[in-house]
Amino acid sequence: MNISIIGSGYVGLVTGACFAELGNKVICADNDVKKIANLTKGIVPIYEPGLEEVIKLNLKNKRLKFTSSIKSAVKSSEVIFIAVGTPALENGEADLTGIENVARTIAQNMDGYRVIVEKSTVPVETCAWVKKTISTYIKKGHKFDVVSNPEFLREGSAINDFTHPDRIILGVESAKAKQIMSSLYQPLNRPILVTNIKSAELIKHASNAFLATKISFINAISRICDKVGADVKEVAEGMGLDSRIGRHFLHAGIGYGGSCFPKDLEAFISIAEKLGYDFEILKAVRDANEEQKKFVLQKIKDELWIIKDKTIAVLGLAFKPNTDDLRNAPSIDLIRSLIQEGAKVKVYDPKAMDKAKEFLKDAVFCKDLYQAGSSADCLIVATEWNEFKEMDFAKLKKSLKRPLIVDARNIYDPKFLKAKGFTYIGVGRGNE
Ligand code: NAD
Repeated sequence: MNISIIGSGYVGLVTGACFAELGNKVICADNDVKKIANLTKGIVPIYEPGLEEVIKLNLKNKRLKFTSSIKSAVKSSEVIFIAVGTPALENGEADLTGIENVARTIAQNMDGYRVIVEKSTVPVETCAWVKKTISTYIKKGHKFDVVSNPEFLREGSAINDFTHPDRIILGVESAKAKQIMSSLYQPLNRPILVTNIKSAELIKHASNAFLATKISFINAISRICDKVGADVKEVAEGMGLDSRIGRHFLHAGIGYGGSCFPKDLEAFISIAEKLGYDFEILKAVRDANEEQKKFVLQKIKDELWIIKDKTIAVLGLAFKPNTDDLRNAPSIDLIRSLIQEGAKVKVYDPKAMDKAKEFLKDAVFCKDLYQAGSSADCLIVATEWNEFKEMDFAKLKKSLKRPLIVDARNIYDPKFLKAKGFTYIGVGRGNE
């Protein structure tokens, strides 16, 4: 099939590259001219395992093209995915300017039947607005269908998540669109759930809100564990073995971040408000997450007493491992608080250093974790990269001023580190 993807970020690039790999002819478009110029040369602006290889391969075999002309992308494709950003506005609502913009451009440049697929995460009823916008601005009476096809990939494992999804959601309102979309996804051989458009839109927000709820729930349990001397990892394991609960997203730590959960939760709360429902559960989930970040900072203070003039190493900047994405990363809030209180903060991340340097001006960027730890009064693990799990603890201990590890992601075994002579502070590991 001839496909266009409008918006070449984490979701758009992965979607485009994977559909090209499946044998389709794909055009990835974006209004960021510099990004497109780089992508055309095979320079990928984000770190996502395996993505660069798939892009280069499909550029070479001419199944994948990049353009900054949305107009030409619309003209060349029967199926057009919208994958632009939908960031949060000040009031928490999703900013749908990009979606509206793209819908208008599609309308003005369509020259035949098109399936317009909404892949960005959007409030329920956005597809209805997209349809109305296209109908308003369309030049000739071309036919089109709008489909809601929310994306569930996770940064860090995006290629695998896209090609092996638990389910593919297709919100459709015509048999033709259903047939086209089903055949596009058929080679993945994964379960496809066809719903009405509004249900599909809600499935995405409901799923992310539920996952965020699991994280805040286990973080709340971690607070109890600290008070009574229980270990939240054991509690989570015991809960997770219950198939009704499941193990995933039961990892206590410094709270969730990233480009999705915080903004999607805010958007969902505000959608509910507009519909006249006070989504109190989600407000509590959001507040618990903010609390958890402060809780980790308080733990550091409880151990160091005075932060001013202390040297503190922070390992991990990205909001999760295997990505360089720093959007809403809990590490950044923590670093800013520490710097504000007068600490010298030394940082290291395997992939996110270049992006962090652009805005984290007062931190000291180190070439590896040992350099970050050198002469530090405290070492904090803020992202659970494998590299940190497998470090040389003896070497690290020698370089630290004080062998204090704050494990904000609970990646270590407290007994193991204590046996190696470290003071260990985890989250919900019975430290209080
Ligand atoms: P991103 O910021 O990485 O990429 C968005 C891209 O859209 C950018 O390259 C931007 O230049 C481009 N863009 C914005 N307005 C445009 C316009 N008018 N015309 C053309 N291009 C335009 O965002 P992302 O992380 O890929 O997320 C995209 C959407 O997918 C969001 O709604 C997000 O919530 C959702 N989503 C993201 C993830 C994830 O893990 N990142 C997972 C599932 C869903």
